[in-house]
Amino acid sequence: MSARPKSIVILTGAGISAESGIDTFRDAGGLWERHSVYDIATPEGFARDPDLVLRFYDERRAGLAKVEPNAAHLALGRLEAEFAGDLLLVTQNVDDLHERGGFVDVCHMHGELRSALCTSCGTRSPWEGPMRDRPPCPVCKAPTLRPDVVWFGEMPYHMDRIEDALAACDLFVSIGTSGAVYPAAGFVSQARAMGTRTLELNLEPSEGTAIFHQARHGAASRLVPEWVEEVLKG
Ligand code: NAD
Repeated sequence: MSARPKSIVILTGAGISAESGIDTFRDAGGLWERHSVYDIATPEGFARDPDLVLRFYDERRAGLAKVEPNAAHLALGRLEAEFAGDLLLVTQNVDDLHERGGFVDVCHMHGELRSALCTSCGTRSPWEGPMRDRPPCPVCKAPTLRPDVVWFGEMPYHMDRIEDALAACDLFVSIGTSGAVYPAAGFVSQARAMGTRTLELNLEPSEGTAIFHQARHGAASRLVPEWVEEVLKG
């Protein structure tokens, strides 16, 4: 990663928030050990048992009050403030730790816990409290809110913006993601196909490690601040 990048796309996953105390999905002890993905992260699961799904995301939303951004989130916030080139931060995370770490323009491709989606009028509204008691949509008043989270089988948000940035960047960096969930898992191949340098920062080799030009393995709270320092020093 020697040449100074002019345009960077960063993709983050659950691993960047792990040291803040938010469970990842796939690691031992992660969310999927205790819940079936089909029950809590598909439209079919929601149709089958909405109470379970609303409760699950209510708990995750309430849990945000008990966690803080870690050194990796803070370092990316610093990067956005100080990097002179183009920068897009795409996160698969539905938490708000990037924002609380100082990053302003976060591209949440899988939605956000602190947002509600009305299944009647389609409006996305900022949301803080629970949904399990079926509160009315702030816009159309129908009691038909669901978590504004992209489930399996649904289209991620902001794909046009992400595709444009991937086509234009000269460095793609993947942080704390297992490389198992598409389309995000395909970004590294798309970037490489355009001749873009690619770097993985992850606790351990991910499913896509071999595709990256370079991989560094360790905790995000150490690797990310080190990498940001490198970029800003040039
Ligand atoms: P994942 O659980 O599949 O993978 C997490 C990756 O992070 C693993 O490769 C693991 O080795 C790595 N990791 C764990 N601790 C780390 C650390 N301290 N430093 C660096 N890397 C670390 O998560 P994913 O790839 O994001 O995909 C799963 C889906 O789960 C995503 O779609 C996402 O929307 C959702 N999710 C989000 C959150 C959140 O918002 N914080 C939490 C769990 C799951």
